[in-house]
Amino acid sequence: MARPPFTKSFTQQLPIPEDAIAAAVAVMRTGRLHRYNTAPDDPGEVAELEREFALWQGQPYCLALASGGQAMQIAMRAAGVAPGDAVLTNGFTLAPVPGAIAGVGARAVLVEVTDDLVIDLDDLAAKAQATGARFLLLSHMRGHLCDMDRLMQIAADQGICVIEDCAHTMGARWNGRLSGSFGTAGCFSTQTYKHLNAGEGGLLTSDDAAFMARAIILSGSYMLFDRHGAAPAGDVFDEIRLDTPNMSARMDNLRAALLRPQLRQIDTAIAGWNARHDLVAGRLSHVDAIHLPTRLAAEQYVGSSIQFCLPGITAKQALAFVAQLAQNGVEVKWFGASSPAGFTSNHHSWRYVAAQDLPQTDRILAGLFDMRLPLTFDLDDCALLADHIIDAVATAFHSEGGK
Ligand SMILES: *Cc1c(COP(=O)(O)O)cnc(C)c1O
Repeated sequence: MARPPFTKSFTQQLPIPEDAIAAAVAVMRTGRLHRYNTAPDDPGEVAELEREFALWQGQPYCLALASGGQAMQIAMRAAGVAPGDAVLTNGFTLAPVPGAIAGVGARAVLVEVTDDLVIDLDDLAAKAQATGARFLLLSHMRGHLCDMDRLMQIAADQGICVIEDCAHTMGARWNGRLSGSFGTAGCFSTQTYKHLNAGEGGLLTSDDAAFMARAIILSGSYMLFDRHGAAPAGDVFDEIRLDTPNMSARMDNLRAALLRPQLRQIDTAIAGWNARHDLVAGRLSHVDAIHLPTRLAAEQYVGSSIQFCLPGITAKQALAFVAQLAQNGVEVKWFGASSPAGFTSNHHSWRYVAAQDLPQTDRILAGLFDMRLPLTFDLDDCALLADHIIDAVATAFHSEGGK
């Protein structure tokens, strides 16, 4: 039974919508690309995006930034992280997260993840206790939400300030409440492969006025903070504008013009990702050798990628599995690889972070695979992808040295 190879690109996103292209062209016609280059009849695309994203996210304040990584750095600084401070974070995430902690001169304390790919709340509580860390940069890695009620209880009990990395959860909810609205701040990315595509970009939301005033000044607002779309009242800045350094990480009007029409369509995009995700997950769920992370009932995810575990797979089998899929045009990433590749790395290759023992995370990553599901794939494509994965799982466990 020869299955046709998969031929579409895993890195091809949808084109930018025509109305977004038109809005970007209109910005270029004015020449006013910088966010503070406004006109009496034109508040600027960035300010408008901030207003619209704050509304959509249900938060009073929003700040548009140059990247998701800058959103995390600025959030930590605005929350009071100082050089040398301990910042708790997931042991399984992508490099911008430990990178942001290194960027503010802080010390990452890595917390184990569970078989369901969320932060291990017992390990979190224990490490918070042991280190006295007052900050958590919580990565909702690959779109998996932990029990947010329990997490926020632990944070309240231990006096921990929570900053949420929502690069993979823009639009995801816990008990109906959007990710990013639980902690002091929500950090979002609009890099091409995230849920909104501006090439690069970031968004930071909060309901804390003093926090957001510090973030706005940090982002490089000079004394133009009144030109923001979702900022605290001017008097909040009285002292903060003098106390806070400018770190220049603004978004520009061109990117914001690309994002506003996409934000209006995001619910359609989310439904599209979930249809693709659920089709693949449904097929994989029939295979005994495959463990799919369990989703808690309160979680409403955005399935823009899919993760599955092959517990007990050896490194040799994992490499052969990925290679067989690649031969068939299917790009599956393995998180257990000893050297980082593409966008994927694990904590062993973050040499700027003090080495830490994470036996549970290592065991999970050794069998963890990940596949993107761009909206350029249709449902037939997804069915074919699932079938290739199932074929490769069968080969992996039936070749020499099998389970
Ligand atoms: C992409 C990403 C970010 C933010 O990245 P930028 O590329 O700086 O916008 C943060 N966390 C995770 C887990 C990511 O994948």
